[in-house]
Amino acid sequence: MKILEKAPAKINLSLDVIGRRSDGYHEVHMVMAAIDLADRIECSELPGNRIVLHSSVPYVPEDDRNFAYQAARLIKDKFGISKGLQLTIQKRIPVAAGLAGGSSDAAATIRAVNRLWHLGMSYETMLDLARQIGSDVAFCIKGGTALATGRGEKISPLPSLPPCWVILVKPAVSVATGQIYKEWDNRPAVHPDVDAMVRAIHVQDFDAICALLGNTLEPVTMEKVEEIAKIKAHMRQIGAEGILMSGSGPTVFALTRHESRMQRLLNGMKGYCPEVYAVRLCKPFALLSEYE
Ligand code: ATP
Repeated sequence: MKILEKAPAKINLSLDVIGRRSDGYHEVHMVMAAIDLADRIECSELPGNRIVLHSSVPYVPEDDRNFAYQAARLIKDKFGISKGLQLTIQKRIPVAAGLAGGSSDAAATIRAVNRLWHLGMSYETMLDLARQIGSDVAFCIKGGTALATGRGEKISPLPSLPPCWVILVKPAVSVATGQIYKEWDNRPAVHPDVDAMVRAIHVQDFDAICALLGNTLEPVTMEKVEEIAKIKAHMRQIGAEGILMSGSGPTVFALTRHESRMQRLLNGMKGYCPEVYAVRLCKPFALLSEYE
């Protein structure tokens, strides 16, 4: 049997860092939303007891450095499963781009292996595994739109945004998340109003959502990647309603409700940057354990 799972990317509509904790992690308040730019995870059983992982791109590790591999290993250990597993990752999400591609692959692997081996994992069990892999993995288990707190692993679901387009522009550079957080530690920070963003989503006020987009890491990455300011200015000129860098960057996204403006942004930005996408937001996954 072959199981297919979609692994959607995420954007941060609001990202605030409260400070560094004694355990070395940063305390964050983030509003995250899953988008329809997704990797595809395929998994099936193999003879033997090994995990074999293939990725469609050469620069993603295929050993235990891959978050999907780590997810499979954790599940095999937790449930004492001595069967082999084949994982194939079809990458579509740009890597090291602030879109949580690796985290989403790990979450999709948890959902896929749960189905493959009929493990009947509860949402809580999946979250517990996710937290052992990385801070963004917990959000990616269900996706949708959510507030993430703690080091990103405490998830409170939010309603979906009013229907809109998300236009993503990825400059041809990659950013190391750890380095951005380290530099954030050593400079005065601008804090977005995360609570106001949560309220705006609850009342479905699209204009307020656009006005409240904010990311405390944006000025740090912008200093290193000069294309970000240029992309933002260009998108503003074309008429995007809201514009922000996602995560630690360098991907910049714009929101618009209008199909014609989405087309203008897509065409306008394609002439400017090699990687441009126009996608919709994704609804949360209905997990197997919820309807079994
Ligand atoms: P974050 O903001 O969580 O750091 P990101 O979107 O900026 O995420 P990813 O695409 O997840 O970055 O990649 C970050 C690093 O994780 C890469 O350098 C890569 O080597 C490693 N990695 C591990 N597993 C994967 C995977 N399945 N897909 C992509 N990268 C992976």
